[in-house]
Amino acid sequence: MPKHIASGLKYLAAVKLRKNGYFQKDIADKLGMDRSTVSHYLNGRNLSWGSIEVAEAVTNCCNRDFLYMTYALTGDLDNTRTIVHILIEQKFEAMVGDTCIGCGVCTDICLMGAINIVDLKCQINTEQCCGCLDCQMNCPTNSIEILEVQNPNNK
Ligand code: SF4
Ligand code: SF4
Repeated sequence: MPKHIASGLKYLAAVKLRKNGYFQKDIADKLGMDRSTVSHYLNGRNLSWGSIEVAEAVTNCCNRDFLYMTYALTGDLDNTRTIVHILIEQKFEAMVGDTCIGCGVCTDICLMGAINIVDLKCQINTEQCCGCLDCQMNCPTNSIEILEVQNPNNK
């Protein structure tokens, strides 16, 4: 069953990429799938609608749960980052205060690989951030603030 739901998540990501103008080859490359599977997905074949419904429910969870469930379902970090990045609609801004001591806790905890330490200071790539807030919640000096700056669902 987890495999089917992971396929449902890939289906949702493939449909969104197609809507955004990507060709089947690029979608296959991005999602680590072969082209014929992408073609089947985009034509509504080879997948149960139940799997897609469950996958949709996963995407509707809070961003942190969506991220961790996707990782549990795919078992693959690169796939997880790609799927979450494609399906999350919001944009985020990150502020790091002068109190940052460069300890690296946030870097280790960020499943999206969005944080680096440069010159003993945390730097967050907001293009890669999915707003899970793990860094903000776990920083020992409360130096991080993640803000949602765009949410197409709240227009
Ligand atoms: S966890 Fe906090 S103090 Fe540590 S590097 Fe990250 S922002 Fe800086
Ligand atoms: S909120 Fe923090 S931990 Fe979560 S993805 Fe963004 S930078 Fe990474």
